[in-house]
Amino acid sequence: MDPLPSRPGRPAPLIRASRALHVGAIGVVLVRPHWWPWALSAVAADHLLLAAGGLWPRSHLLGPNWTHLPPLAAGSPAEAPAPAAVAITIDDGPDPEVTSRVLDLLDEHDARATFCIGERVERHPALARAIVARQHEIGNHTYRHLMRFSLLGPRGVAQEIARAQEAIGVATGEVARFFRAPAGLRNPFLEPALTRANLQLVSWTRRGFDTVNRSAGRVLDSLTRDLRDGDILLLHDGHAARTPSGSPVILEVLPRLLRVLSAAQLAPITLRAALARASVPLLLSSASGVPS
Ligand SMILES: [Zn+2]
Repeated sequence: MDPLPSRPGRPAPLIRASRALHVGAIGVVLVRPHWWPWALSAVAADHLLLAAGGLWPRSHLLGPNWTHLPPLAAGSPAEAPAPAAVAITIDDGPDPEVTSRVLDLLDEHDARATFCIGERVERHPALARAIVARQHEIGNHTYRHLMRFSLLGPRGVAQEIARAQEAIGVATGEVARFFRAPAGLRNPFLEPALTRANLQLVSWTRRGFDTVNRSAGRVLDSLTRDLRDGDILLLHDGHAARTPSGSPVILEVLPRLLRVLSAAQLAPITLRAALARASVPLLLSSASGVPS
């Protein structure tokens, strides 16, 4: 497998500004104690902004966050341009009822996807190995998929990431390179932990809310509205909602989605494949590490 670049390690501008504001607020209170209400108000406003950045899954305020695939690296003029592509990401599995059928559907269309998983990999290691064997990718989706993940401190965040990374490695021999937070919710402690683990945060361009929406048609409409090159789409093989006929929504959406992508000449590729063909200088622009 091609080597992949290390993650950029520099904090986002908002995080750097936030640190400076905290230091400044302490300094102000030390020099002018009676100004404490202003200092406290500034710190409180800063925390509100940080919380908003974490509760908005597609925000870039807390650090790098893929909401689209990165732009292609410039090739030589003689080189054929890479085909237009999208990434299908499939979360919360593996699921013994759904995942193998998803894999068959992807195979039928020669499509590749990225499955973001956690502790379920320990219950269904054979399915996880099948995902890898069929040339799809596995991403880290935290170990326990806690809905209070964004309320954890730095240690808890790091443990959730490390336990999932280890479980994925034990089951498949793979080292996950991408991370998705449960429901996309996070806090400022996430980005440093991802940098240390060499994981890239990925959210999505569009999602169909297929864990709650029972209409395959509406899920498909949400995913394909304004569909274009570089989109990242989100579906679920775990926690899938059921259509009125009792079928997991993804199994009705995926064949139709793959036909739409084929008609639009958009190749479904893994996130790793997108990174490998991307503009590396973009990714390393603020990196302290070197390609590993
Ligand atoms: Zn999830």
